[in-house]
Order: sequence, then structure tokens, then C-alpha cells
Amino acid sequence: MYFKDVVGQEDIKKKLISNIKNNRVSHAQLFLGPEGSGKLAIAIAYARYLACKNPGAEDACGECSSCLKYNKFAHPDLTFFYPIPSRLKGDTPLISKDFATQWRNFLDNSPYVSLNEWYKSIDIENKQGIINARDCNEIVKVLSYKSYESEFKVVIIWMIERLYHAAAPKLLKILEEPPEKTLFLLVSENQDLILNTILSRAQLLKIPRLKDHEVREGLINQYNCDPVQADQIAFLADGNFHQALIMLESDEILENNTNFLREWLRVCYKNDIKEILSYVDNLAKMGRERQKNLLSFALEVFRQCNLLNYQAGNLVKVHPESQDFINKFSTILLPQVAVKMTDEFSKAIYHVERNANPKILFTDLSIKSGRIMKAKK
Ligand SMILES: [Zn+2]
Repeated sequence: MYFKDVVGQEDIKKKLISNIKNNRVSHAQLFLGPEGSGKLAIAIAYARYLACKNPGAEDACGECSSCLKYNKFAHPDLTFFYPIPSRLKGDTPLISKDFATQWRNFLDNSPYVSLNEWYKSIDIENKQGIINARDCNEIVKVLSYKSYESEFKVVIIWMIERLYHAAAPKLLKILEEPPEKTLFLLVSENQDLILNTILSRAQLLKIPRLKDHEVREGLINQYNCDPVQADQIAFLADGNFHQALIMLESDEILENNTNFLREWLRVCYKNDIKEILSYVDNLAKMGRERQKNLLSFALEVFRQCNLLNYQAGNLVKVHPESQDFINKFSTILLPQVAVKMTDEFSKAIYHVERNANPKILFTDLSIKSGRIMKAKK
């Protein structure tokens, strides 16, 4: 994560860099901001800049030995702490380090993260993670060594509001009397849940919610999003770039589904066996979740065609991406055809869920669909 990966927040970036240049690096800083504002990404970019051996005016160099280690979130002078389950099913007690691989993959995936997604990625969706007393001991331990190669030893604590209260005294002590050249970067989205004793020991940096135009420009410039789509997403995301990225991804799935289904059904209709088998090959490779997603999308298309044929088209809101397809397809998918297609596709979902052989299943479905669609003519 670099400053350039952070959408918007130009004033914050400038301020952090100027603090470094003016030797005003406070040893404990709290990055406070709502979900999707980029606070964790900013904290990491800041730590990277500070450790970079050849920093530019606006960002780290990206080439020095320190930057290379930051690319993998594996710099010896950078340690992360984050909420984790206290123990897994009665087994040995855990510390953040036990989840280091998952954490690095999680950060690698996107600089915009959420607590729920973190829980999902470590399979504790139904539980709450905490920053426990063992991790507070770890922090003391990590900071008892001298830095290896950078000027500062950096500890980033993500979601400090999840600190287990009984564990706080240990952390408070080291926040109060930190070893020399130690830097604490605390990251939080809820000031009310942070212990006052912690709040009073850290310099507060408020990361504001992004403006709509910042979300829009971020989507266009950094994620190659089409400007019209970027407008819609920015309007709905309400300054939360994490949400914006989720919407962007689901829109891409929708676009892929529309394109794939249109071409696949065209081939079925033509009843060209060679082409059908090449689509079946692609379908078989998709994986079950994606197959189910596509089949469910097809059911939705059939339903929309029906509504259109019954002149109720304006009752439902269709995504512009699929509107054109549904308009054309509804001339083939007349009501009696729609019933049979819905039946076949529902059965296919049932079989996918029960691990049917995908090649047999989709060859069968393709041939049947072709017959059903042709039968009306
Ligand atoms: Zn560098």
C-alpha cells in the first residue's frame, strides 16, 4: 500500500508527509475514520513512507529494500495486531501472529477492508474477535528488541476499540513509556468504544468520509470504471469506498452473467453440438458457486421476460446492463417457454448443489433448452 493507492484524502496525505519532513512524528497516533475512508491503507502507506530509504515528495520509492518488504507486508520492523478469536474450539489460546498468513492475504486483496470481511476470511463470522492480553504481551515483546533496519519500529493495531479491557493496562504502560524510536499507529472506526486512557495518549487524526466526487474519481482512475457506472456507484456508496468496490465487483459479475447467458442460449438455440460442448467446458470450469450464481441469474431473466410479456415490465427495475438482452430475449421466451425453462434451470441448481457431474448436467441442460426454445416456433 502506497499513498497513491489511497483514494482522495489529499490533505491527510500532505499533512502526514509534512510531519515527517518537519520531524514531528508523534509516537502514538490514532487514525480514526468510518468504514471505507481508507484509514488502514493510510496508516500502512505512512509507515512505508517513513521506512523508505529513498522517499519521493509524495510517496515511497517502491524500489528500496524496505519497500520490497512492505510489498509483502513482511518488514521486520512492522508488526500488525488485529481482532482474533480468543481460542478455536477449546484449543490452545491464540495470538495475532497465528493469523499472519490470512492477514497478509486479506490486505493483499484490497486496501479497503471491513471488520466483517476479516471475520469471514478467518471463518469466525458468528463470533466477535478481540485484541487480547496475550497480544498485549506480544507488543511489549516485539518492542523490547531494537529495530532491525529502519529508524522506527512500527506497531499497527487495527480496530483498537476491540481491545479487551482487562488487557488495557499492559498496553497503556508501554504507550506511556515506549522504548525509543517506537511508533504506534492505532486504527479505529468508533471513538466512543475506545478507552479514554488510550485516547488521551494518542494524537488523533480524523480521516473524513470520502466525498462522492472522490469515490467517483477513485473508481475511474484506479479501477478503470466506466464514468456513468462510477456516478451511480458513488451516489449509492455514500463515501464508503469499501462498499463502492463491492458494488463494482457485483456489477462486473452481472455484466459477465449477461454476456455469458446471452451467448450460451444463442448456441443452444442453434443446437450446434460442437459450440455447445465448448460452452459446457467453460461452465464445468466455473466452480459451483459461480455456476449457481449464473443459473439463478438465468431464472431472474426468465422471470423478467415473463413480466415483460405480460406487459408488467415497468413494474420491475432492471439493471441497464441486462435490459437490452431481456427486451430481445422476451420475444423467444414466451410464457409457455418460460415455464419449462424455469423448471429445467431450477432442477439444474438442485443438481449443482448435490455435486452432479457438471459436464453431463450442462450438456443435458443445453440440449433441452434448445428444444424448449425452438418448440414454440
Ligand atoms: Zn522505498
